[in-house]
Amino acid sequence: MATYLQEHLQLAHDLWKKLLDSSDNAIDATCGNGKDSLFLASTLSTGLMFCYDIQKKAIENTHKLLKEHAVDLNKITFINSSHETFSEIPNCVPIKLITYNLGYLPGSDKSITTMKESTVNSIHKGLNLIVEGGALSITTYSGHLEGEKEQLEIFSLLDHLDKTQFVISVYQWPKAKAPCLIWIKKTK
Ligand code: SAM
Repeated sequence: MATYLQEHLQLAHDLWKKLLDSSDNAIDATCGNGKDSLFLASTLSTGLMFCYDIQKKAIENTHKLLKEHAVDLNKITFINSSHETFSEIPNCVPIKLITYNLGYLPGSDKSITTMKESTVNSIHKGLNLIVEGGALSITTYSGHLEGEKEQLEIFSLLDHLDKTQFVISVYQWPKAKAPCLIWIKKTK
């Protein structure tokens, strides 16, 4: 993997760690092979975590990885479904962070990828769901066609956000089609 691909993930993890207290609750909206979920679980010692993925294999991979690292699975809910509505999240659970690592599952069928419509719907829901002081972390990959369309839709969504309620930062390696990290913090 090229260095610039890893750096945006490292940066995302640094932001998550800075934001989260150990008792906060978080959602991994695209758990994939579970690497991001594992990082979140190690930060949230008592908080709850919800792991979404449309692929059963991804849910199984994440479950296996967390179990291998002795994560307390009682605090994790695995949801083999789209993140589009977050209807599975109980109203009584305040969510501090939602992470999206968009695209396709590494080492798997590249045609099963996140899609602009469901991603944008999910981001709208997520922005409502998170608490004041919470954030959405979104990594986009414009190096493949669906990812490029998805990134454009997300940028358009960002244009229309209420800037008095959300602070938006975008990190991108200065290279065409490099991965991009979007950090949206809810201030009120
Ligand atoms: N975070 C993962 C990790 O640490 O291994 C990598 C995620 S991978 C880049 C993207 C994942 O999004 C894939 O596993 C794919 O199945 C999943 N996905 C695609 N569309 C989805 C949707 N609508 N809802 C939830 N997950 C989705």
